[in-house]
Amino acid sequence: MSGSQSENVRDWTNTIVLFSTPILATFFVPYLWIQNGGFSAFEWSCFAFFMVATGTGITAGYHRLWSHKAYDANVLVRLWYAYWGACATHNSIIQWSADHRRHHKFVDHLEKDPYSAKKGFWWAHMGWILERPFDDQVDLSNVKDLEKDWVVVWQEKLYLPLLIISNILVPLGIGWLYHQTAGQGSVYGVLVLAGLLRFVLNHHFTFFINSACHFFGNQPYNIKDTSRDNFLLALFTYGEGYHNYHHTFQADYRNGICWYHFDPTKWITKALSWIGFTWNLKKVPECQIQKQKIMNKMNIAKAQLYERLDVPQNQSVYQKIEQAYKDFTQTMNEWMEAENKFSRFCRERRSTIEKEPYMLKLRLLKKSIEQQKEQLQKIFQTSDMDALLAY
Ligand SMILES: [Zn+2]
Ligand SMILES: [Zn+2]
Repeated sequence: MSGSQSENVRDWTNTIVLFSTPILATFFVPYLWIQNGGFSAFEWSCFAFFMVATGTGITAGYHRLWSHKAYDANVLVRLWYAYWGACATHNSIIQWSADHRRHHKFVDHLEKDPYSAKKGFWWAHMGWILERPFDDQVDLSNVKDLEKDWVVVWQEKLYLPLLIISNILVPLGIGWLYHQTAGQGSVYGVLVLAGLLRFVLNHHFTFFINSACHFFGNQPYNIKDTSRDNFLLALFTYGEGYHNYHHTFQADYRNGICWYHFDPTKWITKALSWIGFTWNLKKVPECQIQKQKIMNKMNIAKAQLYERLDVPQNQSVYQKIEQAYKDFTQTMNEWMEAENKFSRFCRERRSTIEKEPYMLKLRLLKKSIEQQKEQLQKIFQTSDMDALLAY
């Protein structure tokens, strides 16, 4: 399902598929339910399996593995994600990644971000999929690297047959086998649940990442774009709800960075690394994350102060605050540099004598950060211009 730029026309295939499948599911799920006196545990298990497999095919495969190269994976993992990604029917790996990389590069741009949240919730959710470029030319120049992966090329060639096999033939085959061997359920039970209902729910759960994750939640890491962190959305999106973190540090294989964050995509990737199926899992250093979080808080407080008191009008106060902010930024940078160097020394198992000066430096820097942070916070909380002049 292709992205869109300035001159678009209605994409009738996508429009018909995306509107007819919810209608068909609303009719056929209750119809079969009534006809067969409910669905069996096996049929519901197939539904659950297809939900997770297609969902993580997009989040772990299309998104973190291919679009962001946040880790490497062996051929079995890549084939698995390519198959279930095709079943999810969110376009091929190449086309999906091209749109997604543009989303990150030009986030919120009205023309260049394919699913810009600035064009409204509906557009970001699925409006953009219902249209396609007038000339049918999708720009794939930003995904040339992916063509080196034969699994990606193979999936691109066989996308349509894979889509039909995985969405219709396989569920129908499983349903038929189950009906034949267990002698219960309908031949169409698995097709309706794991095929049709899953198709609709998986689409909208994944669409939430582009829509709701840019509208609802908080912004602990940056306020430069509309991305949000939202725990509730993480539950539906296999961990992708920590979207503000992801937009700030897109190469990290994790989206939820704390142990208590609900991020099954991260857990699966980590678990696969224990058996050697995935490797080179990229992680942003803790000090960099901390720095980003603190600076973001400071930026918000500073902007609020400027708005409250119209500080830029008073040049002497403005310069004073900007200087204090600059000094603090510099101390934070020095701290990050020292932390990085110290952890490198630890990794290289350097002697305590070599590490000692850095440990001392880090202690001093941390103290200085606390003092400067306290001072800045006092300034940013002021509601009186005279008090600012006194600082
Ligand atoms: Zn986003
Ligand atoms: Zn992303």
